[in-house]
Amino acid sequence: MAAYQITCATKTSPCHIEWVETSNGRVWNVKKVRKALKKDRFYTSDAGGHTADVQKTRCLICNKKTIRTDPNNDTDNRLDNLPPCA
Ligand SMILES: [Zn+2]
Repeated sequence: MAAYQITCATKTSPCHIEWVETSNGRVWNVKKVRKALKKDRFYTSDAGGHTADVQKTRCLICNKKTIRTDPNNDTDNRLDNLPPCA
């Protein structure tokens, strides 16, 4: 099992995340993240080091498969607060 910190998140449609980048410089599409979540951990971390785990979800607007942070860690989806990837 590996753990990856997501550092940026890109939406190519207006409503849900489709690409992320992890702190090791690797770029992932959401499909690959969802597949890797079977064995690996993805998370975000704020400036204070508070982490929130990433989990699978469906977009609330268009119902496409995507990812979000665990609502038990934070009520907001913290992936939405990350900057878009360059
Ligand atoms: Zn959507």
